Amino acid sequence: MTPLLLPPLPYATEALEPHISRRTLVTHHGRHHQAYVDKVNATVRDTSQSGWSLERLVKEASGALFNNAAQAWNHEFYWHSLRPAGGPQPPADLSAAIQRSFGSLGGLQHAFRDAALDHFGSGWAWLVAAPGDRLEVLTTHDADTPLRDGPLPLLTCDLWEHAWYLDRLQDKAAYLKAFWELANWSFAAENLARASAPRRAR
Ligand code: MN
Repeated sequence: MTPLLLPPLPYATEALEPHISRRTLVTHHGRHHQAYVDKVNATVRDTSQSGWSLERLVKEASGALFNNAAQAWNHEFYWHSLRPAGGPQPPADLSAAIQRSFGSLGGLQHAFRDAALDHFGSGWAWLVAAPGDRLEVLTTHDADTPLRDGPLPLLTCDLWEHAWYLDRLQDKAAYLKAFWELANWSFAAENLARASAPRRAR
């Protein structure tokens, strides 16, 4: 079975500057993300799980294999949650859902920042589509991911220190502020459309 490959970044390594540096992206993608992919491949080699998709490993594996598979999946989702600054703002459907759930885009950003700042240690902050047409903000610890058994993720922000330490040292708040300059609303809207699509399309 072909091993998992490190998915390429969907933009150039300098495309997120000045908010996230080329140096951070090269290390974060080329070393951290690559290491998770390598560990998954090393763990499943010559086992009955070697043919499994990354999604299946995240949903069904346990222990270190789950941790590495989930980190690989979360990072790919994170790269797509970002786009170069100045890109499109939330399209109409997503904008309406944000207003229904948080009052305004500022309300979402405030709730997301508070949850991310309050999150102790490594993990991820997520914008998710909860049942009943509501959007919610949640955080997960370490490798944990809503893909496993949670609501449908729309957007994520990596809360591991390696995501900002080279650029910001201890200033997590500055990294979280920059996240909103880079948020890929088109990606979030595509995910939301999947959430509201008929089940057969999932
Ligand atoms: Mn990371």
